[in-house]
Amino acid sequence: ARLRIGLTGGIASGKSTVAGILADLGAVIIDSDLLAREVVEPGTEGLAKIIERFGDRVISDGRLDRAALGKIIFSDPRARADLESIIHPAVRRRAAELEAVAGSDAVVVQMIPLLVETGQADAFDRLVVVDVPPEVQRQRLADRNGLTEQEAEARIGAQASRADRLAVADVVIDNSDAGLDQLRQRVTEIFRSWQSEHANG
Ligand code: ATP
Repeated sequence: ARLRIGLTGGIASGKSTVAGILADLGAVIIDSDLLAREVVEPGTEGLAKIIERFGDRVISDGRLDRAALGKIIFSDPRARADLESIIHPAVRRRAAELEAVAGSDAVVVQMIPLLVETGQADAFDRLVVVDVPPEVQRQRLADRNGLTEQEAEARIGAQASRADRLAVADVVIDNSDAGLDQLRQRVTEIFRSWQSEHANG
């Protein structure tokens, strides 16, 4: 059967970088952030449900107005929960479809930033956590997104703690001072071990 891998890590830890390396090695990558956008494209059942719940004020030019929706859910936990109960099942269905069309011997990697926060730690054969200390996250958020230290801290603090993620990891990829070559080497080793495990049963 397919090997199902969950890939997560804190903000700016290097999830996309690791997923890119895994894709080069031949893994099937399912990006949950991408799916979350896909399931609310114009014409989808997801968007219809959002309009039913929130009204036309969240639509602009026929598309979901994320800023408007963001303002509504920011201060309203019920609204946020309703939105999640529309989007999360749709993402899970779409992910299952993509998984089903992957070859029977494929290594399927689902990248889910909030995997731990959304209680999906048990949904996979293996859980991979890309790990960096908060100071590296802050530095990368400053370099990549131009965030101040306070802004970076707020985003890091809104997620599960580093310890919570590490507690559920089967494999930890330390991406704190790995150069990209070293990271590629580590990810390749892990991927090869999955493949041989796979071949043996
Ligand atoms: P997000 O949570 O914001 O989606 P992410 O976890 O997917 O981020 P990436 O986008 O892969 O993280 O990496 C964050 C930033 O750190 C990027 O600018 C990336 O190029 C850089 N980066 C990742 N890994 C390394 C590394 N080993 N060495 C140097 N820079 C790295």
